[in-house]
Amino acid sequence: MRSPARVAFVTFVAVALAGASTAEAGTRKKKKRAKKAKVTQPRKAKRTNMPAGWTWPPSKAMTELGAACTDELDALGVAWKPARKARKVSTPITLSAMEIGGVKLVSVYRRGPHVMDCALALGLAKHLPALHAVGVRELHFSRIHEYSKVRVNGQQLKSLSRHALGLAIDIRSFVDADGRKAIVLDDYPLGDALLLEVEKALGDSGGFRTILTPRNDPQSHDDHYHLEVRVDYTAKPAATPRKPAT
Ligand SMILES: [Zn+2]
Repeated sequence: MRSPARVAFVTFVAVALAGASTAEAGTRKKKKRAKKAKVTQPRKAKRTNMPAGWTWPPSKAMTELGAACTDELDALGVAWKPARKARKVSTPITLSAMEIGGVKLVSVYRRGPHVMDCALALGLAKHLPALHAVGVRELHFSRIHEYSKVRVNGQQLKSLSRHALGLAIDIRSFVDADGRKAIVLDDYPLGDALLLEVEKALGDSGGFRTILTPRNDPQSHDDHYHLEVRVDYTAKPAATPRKPAT
């Protein structure tokens, strides 16, 4: 039964099947490519709002930067102690005295210990002298480390706050050399000179990534200044003198 018609039919079916399997393979390839793209694309495009190079648990680079940070605190004469592990804080420490650069850090609500990342302590050590220079002798803070999400313009965002990393501090008021207390909530709307000078000095320092105040976020920051220290975990740690190998 090898009529020409049958040969033609068999050939047609074979070609069709081959075509189908080629098409299927093509689809599989496409899917594979799509899958690959799915894996690699978000990694490139994802904006996590975390500091550059930040990973959890902390990478070797982060740990090395943490060690360089505490060396720098020592060099600046800031006494500190290692703190117990704190959620998402890369280099948790506490200050031995809550005073840096002639400015006392006074907690409004909570008793210590006030755990922070070394980077925040170092940022304060570098930039609080500028606040001392405009007359600040105390800052009263409501929050340092707390596992929380970003809250801005009256909305809570998905991203982790720098408070969760121990890199931010919320300040409610500043006390000057005469003992006068300038309260952000009450005195900022009145154009308090000290508060405005502090805001400017902090902004000019370049040491802080974001300074949220009643000026730029009246909804969520009408009663405090939010400072978060700038960190870059892709940076090389500052060279520290090492003991020669014996
Ligand atoms: Zn804050």
